[in-house]
Amino acid sequence: MAQRIDGKAIAARLVAATAADVGDLAARHGVVPGLAVVLVGEDPASQVYVGRKIAQCRRAGIVSIEHRLPAATAQQELLALIARLNADAAVHGILVQLPLPPQIDAARVLDAIAPHKDVDGFHPVNVGRLSTGAGGGLTPCTPLGCIKLLDTVVDDYRGLEAVVIGKSNIVGKPVALLLLERECTVTVTHILTRNLPDIVRTADIVVVAAGSPGLVRGDWVKPGAIVIDVGINRIVDGDGRARLVGDSVTAELDHAAAVTPVPGGVGPMTIACLLSNTVQAARAQLERAAAIGTDAARA
Ligand code: NAD
Repeated sequence: MAQRIDGKAIAARLVAATAADVGDLAARHGVVPGLAVVLVGEDPASQVYVGRKIAQCRRAGIVSIEHRLPAATAQQELLALIARLNADAAVHGILVQLPLPPQIDAARVLDAIAPHKDVDGFHPVNVGRLSTGAGGGLTPCTPLGCIKLLDTVVDDYRGLEAVVIGKSNIVGKPVALLLLERECTVTVTHILTRNLPDIVRTADIVVVAAGSPGLVRGDWVKPGAIVIDVGINRIVDGDGRARLVGDSVTAELDHAAAVTPVPGGVGPMTIACLLSNTVQAARAQLERAAAIGTDAARA
């Protein structure tokens, strides 16, 4: 029987550790980390995600500052809000919930977020730091969560074969870079990849982020492999009941070494990593402010 990697429990430990870090920052600097959450429009799924993020912020002791804007908000208006948040010392992290309404260019908005406050890790500066391995940047939350789950079952990544299914900027590409950084041999696949099952069969680690329910079948996965299932798909059963399933058929993966359930695997890690990124951002900003203060005192 494959080990179930308990994302809920691992995320709860990360949230508790983040709460301790928040207490430490408050004690040392007298500052409580602040996360600005910007939601444009009334997309029901986005409202649920934002609600969960705010609730978890509270649990970790992070101040969340909500900005709910109407669906008709003009791009300039949103950019002006981002500029204000960039300049606000009480705001250490900025999250703009995607998707944005069609009149807004999401790439322009994400580019406008100050890289040191970009807790989603989508700004080109943070993407560049990740791809060069320069360090010091903010790493996208879901890929970071995947690695933290893998860390609980992988002792040594070096030389392992990793296959990533999906090449999105949000999940597939960054998770591939994180695995490459750990010296896995990484193959990134996508909808047009030929012989996908054969490629997946070579993998010691499979990360699937395709948004395709039940894509990865049991006979695609070699015995002893680890499967991280990022997919979240809402399906309706024959009896009309809706449920969430991943991109793999977990029931066929008993021969794997370890798998993540859906729900309860990667999902909870995404929010936990958002909180830890916010604290990382706050700490970096406070240290930078302290260093500038020291330099000014010396001058
Ligand atoms: P996306 O649509 O941006 O990208 C999907 C990628 O998968 C594309 O590169 C596409 O080529 C590839 N793909 C699609 N169908 C495929 C197939 N049949 N075979 C091979 N490749 C295929 O999606 P995304 O934003 O990367 O999200 C992927 C999935 O992960 C979705 O189900 C999404 O809901 C989920 N997700 C979960 C979390 C979380 O917190 N757990 C976070 C982000 C995304």
